[in-house]
Amino acid sequence: MDPVGRALMKLTILGSGTLIPFPNRGNSGYFLQTGKHTILIDGGSGALRRIADYHLDYKNIDTICYTHLHPDHIIDLIPLLFAYKHDPSVDMPKSLKIIGPRGFQTYFNQIMDIYGKWGLSEGLNIKIEEVFRDEIELEGLDIICNHTEHTEYSVTYLFTENSGNSLFYSGDTDYCEELVQSAKNVDVLMLECSFPDERKRLGHLTPSECGKIAAETKCGRLILTHFYPEVLEIDILSTVSKYYSGMVDLAYDGMEVFIDA
Ligand SMILES: [Zn+2]
Ligand SMILES: [Zn+2]
Repeated sequence: MDPVGRALMKLTILGSGTLIPFPNRGNSGYFLQTGKHTILIDGGSGALRRIADYHLDYKNIDTICYTHLHPDHIIDLIPLLFAYKHDPSVDMPKSLKIIGPRGFQTYFNQIMDIYGKWGLSEGLNIKIEEVFRDEIELEGLDIICNHTEHTEYSVTYLFTENSGNSLFYSGDTDYCEELVQSAKNVDVLMLECSFPDERKRLGHLTPSECGKIAAETKCGRLILTHFYPEVLEIDILSTVSKYYSGMVDLAYDGMEVFIDA
């Protein structure tokens, strides 16, 4: 389904916050509509509810992409599957592709051990693909995964439509060369931006690091997300602008981004 009747991608921010409960900023979740696909990218607590809040249709999701297995990025898979089972308006049989990091299949099996029959519709045909450094081709869309520094098997996602439009999502990450190389020349670079420079924590990015990565990748536009409360107290944009002169946006829940190269 083409979201607006021409070749472009539309990204809706479902959650620009982190695991810390914070007003108006939910757990990580992103809703990507391309010419042929509806993709949920990560989906922590509340992501499913946000889909409804923003008048998007969770029934259209055909692919889910997870960056890593931290609960604030993944836990809403359980209510999603539960809704598919019990919502009579969901057309069955339905196919759902789930792309996740190494270890996802084990995580999924354990969910099924707990919820199994009453949590999963028999009409739902789930295909799981674990990725690390891999390329997946869907109809009209190319997805390239690479490793990044956060958990042992964390991955990033580069989505490129046949039309050429591209989006890169870092998930949670620290600065690393593989991240920069994976995102070279992308149209929209979406990076996590967790902590202020002076309160840097390993495994996450600061505004200065985000600015440097954006400059090194030569991305067309930078979107920052995954804000811990303390980073919201500083002037993120002026810090980023010391390194990167392109367009920068701070994500907010409900924000819509149109990607048209
Ligand atoms: Zn994480
Ligand atoms: Zn996180």
